[in-house]
Amino acid sequence: MPLFLHFKYGSKIPYETDAERIDLLSSVWLILKINLLTNIKQRRVRLKVNMTRIPIRIIPDPVLRQTAQPVSAVDKKVALFMDDMLESMYKGHGIGLAANQVGALTRVITVDVSEERNGTKALLMANPEITWRDPEETFTYNEGCLSIPDQFADVTRPKRIRMHYIDQHGKKQELEAEDLLSQCIQHEIDHLNGVLFIDHLSKLKRGMIEKKVEKAQRQRDEHLL
Ligand code: ZN
Repeated sequence: MPLFLHFKYGSKIPYETDAERIDLLSSVWLILKINLLTNIKQRRVRLKVNMTRIPIRIIPDPVLRQTAQPVSAVDKKVALFMDDMLESMYKGHGIGLAANQVGALTRVITVDVSEERNGTKALLMANPEITWRDPEETFTYNEGCLSIPDQFADVTRPKRIRMHYIDQHGKKQELEAEDLLSQCIQHEIDHLNGVLFIDHLSKLKRGMIEKKVEKAQRQRDEHLL
């Protein structure tokens, strides 16, 4: 039974969407006869199920070009998914992550531009929506992306934004951000709309980056064979 094997040998958790993840948790429940209504997070710690192992999708994965749908509410399932995304983001040394990047088409992003990077200053956002963009000043940052490994390019965006979102506790929040935080949030919301930072570059530059990533991926695949 593949599920048993995955856990037995400690390999990757075999889920790609949050729906599959809940299916997986249900299966764990069946196998280990644990009550699903108790605290899922504590149980995961007890089972030593690593929360960080959601694989990051790399271009040209089509999920990165799809539009994510709003969540109807931030329930326990979404809150746990936010935790998983944050862990995956830290593990990948990223400052932001969007749900598309872990194969889920839900409007959830995680962001942490702090130096601590221990979760205390992380922003976990559902249904983030920008309501105002600075029409005058811009900010330029050498952007990268966990879905476009090892490639960086200067991208210019509005310097300040105002936005609202639903936090991990289901509360509506408003935020004004500038500079790096603003840049990062704009990058992540682009992801939810199927837009990548390379779309802000010239066609030539974008093509070069895509070719480099595909070549590196091919070389990795050949190495694995
Ligand atoms: Zn990105």
